[in-house]
This record gives sequence, C-alpha cells and structure tokens, in this order.
Amino acid sequence: MHKTDDFERVELGFFPTPLEPLTRLGESLGIQLDIKRDDYTGFGGGGNKVRKLEYLMADAVRQGINVIITTGGHQSNHARMVAAAARKFGMKPVLVLRGNSPESYQGNLLLDKLFGAELEFLDPDGYFTQIADAMQAHADAATARGEKALIIPLGGATPLGALGYVRAVEELDAQLKARGQQPPDVIVAPTGSGGTLAGLYVGARQYWPQTKIVGISVSAKAQWFQERISAMAQDCADLLQWPQSWSPEDIWIEDGFVGAAYGVPSEGGIEAIYRVAQAEGVLLDPVYTGKAMHGLISLVQEGKIQPNSRVIFVHCGGSPALYPFAQKLLER
Ligand SMILES: *Cc1c(COP(=O)(O)O)cnc(C)c1O
Repeated sequence: MHKTDDFERVELGFFPTPLEPLTRLGESLGIQLDIKRDDYTGFGGGGNKVRKLEYLMADAVRQGINVIITTGGHQSNHARMVAAAARKFGMKPVLVLRGNSPESYQGNLLLDKLFGAELEFLDPDGYFTQIADAMQAHADAATARGEKALIIPLGGATPLGALGYVRAVEELDAQLKARGQQPPDVIVAPTGSGGTLAGLYVGARQYWPQTKIVGISVSAKAQWFQERISAMAQDCADLLQWPQSWSPEDIWIEDGFVGAAYGVPSEGGIEAIYRVAQAEGVLLDPVYTGKAMHGLISLVQEGKIQPNSRVIFVHCGGSPALYPFAQKLLER
C-alpha cells in the first residue's frame, strides 16, 4: 500500500484551503453545511485543478518537458491553470479550446492571454472527433523543433491527477479531527471531467466509508460519468495499491442540473449564484459551482439529502467565468 505522499508532487497551491460553515444557507435548508474553499487554492487564479496539477506537473518536470498542451472550453479554468503552471516551470503552454475564435477575450480567455498561451480554437461541431489529432499536431511540431511536449488530457482527469483529490480527503479529515468533528454524511461537488469525483471517491472509501458522495453533472449523462469515474477511481486505487474495487453503480451522479448545455448558464444555477452571494457573501460561477449548488439545494428539497445531514460542498473555483457572463447574469 502506497501513501499519497509517496508520489512526486510540486507545490503550487496554498494548503490546507479553508473549510468554513455556511451557517445562514445551511439553516435555511435545514442541514449543517460547510464549504471547502478550493476556489482559494491560489495558484494561477485558483481552483480545483491546482491539486491535480501538483502531481501532473511533477511528472512533466521529471520528464524535462518544454511544451505543455491541453484542452477545454472557451472559459476553461483548467486550461488557464495549466497555462500558469507551465510558465512557473519555464514551459510553453498551448491550449486547444472548444469554440470559435472569440470576439473578445474576457474571463479565463483574458488570463490565458496574460499567461502568453498559444491558443487554437476548434469548431464545436467537429471538436470531439478532432481534438486528439489537434493536440498531437502541436506535440509533433514541438518534437520537430527538438522540444519535448506533454499532452495533459481534458480537466487533468488522469489517475495521477485524481490523487490530488485523495489528498484533499486527507486534508479534510485532518481539519474535521482538529475540530473534534465526525466525517460528513454527504459531499457534493460539480463534475465535468470526473477527476475530482474519482479522487474524492477513492479517498472517502479509505477514510470515510459511511460518507456519500454526489457529483452534479455540468455536461454529460449520469451513465457516462458512472462508467468513466468508476474506471478512473479503479486506476487511481491501483496506483496507490489500495485494495478497492469499483463499478459504475458505486458512483452517484445527478444529471438534471446541466441546463441547456455545458458552459451555458442555467436558470437554477443563476438563482443559486444569487442566493449564495446574498446569504453568505460567497461567489460561485455559472459553468460549474452554480449548477452544483442548484443540485445540492434541490436534493435537500427532494429529500434525497436528509434533513439535518452534515454536508460539505466542494467549491472548485471558476469565478473568472462570472465576468464574461455578466449580461446573462443581469437578465434575471
Ligand atoms: C474543472 C472544474 C470542475 C470539474 O472538475 P472535474 O475534476 O473536471 O470533474 C468543477 N468546477 C470548476 C470551477 C472547474 O474548473
């Protein structure tokens, strides 16, 4: 059996991130609610990808990589944090983004520019068939120049990246123990590429076997995530040599809160952003955490999360995406 500390890691973020009660919101919902502030991981504007990148960048440094290539949507927080991480280690970031060439560079796109990332835009229609080749073409071009390239998959969702969220469970466990508190009944987090959920599941099975974890989909159907996340959790547990076995039924995904599509703000998500901002002074975002909070609120109202449960909401970051959606947010 390995420990998360047995794997090489670079220090990028500020840890532990705060764990704080959302007393007013929790009381209004009839649950005991805490928020894990992974929007405050700090590095490169912060967010959940920093935990994954501590492992992924250690691997890049060890390999002597010069060019880091990754992908995401226009307002990809992941792509922005990869760009920052590449720069920190003297590497060149290349981002192949899903979407047409934008009219203006706002939010994460602006930050991508500040980090000096090379940007390529792929038409959304052909994206899923073209993305692997498009990233490989950048890698081949780097190789032809005598440089060494590494492709980081969408969301940094690899078994190694997921270790970052096994570590997050260890961090939460220490925070709760210091307060003399038991593990939570439920953890709620948004799910986009599935890496965060996979790590949380592996960590929770090891340390908190009674805790339920629910992923609120911001994109695909539940079944797709259940298959993907159980496979990733299996690979992550195998990497750690932890005796766990995973199947799709082990993974709880709610897919009713996506709205029209990934990256398109939903009415319920926008309501949740306003509610949390005005109950707690905490900013969520329209692509991930607003939709996830909409899910949490609805699950409590439907009784799928029981009254008086002890719930931790994982704030995965994303507030740079508030600004490009200003118009949409103000239409309410
Ligand atoms: C990437 C991201 C997520 C989703 O995490 P995955 O590990 O990709 O599932 C959630 N919230 C924010 C703000 C993100 O940037």
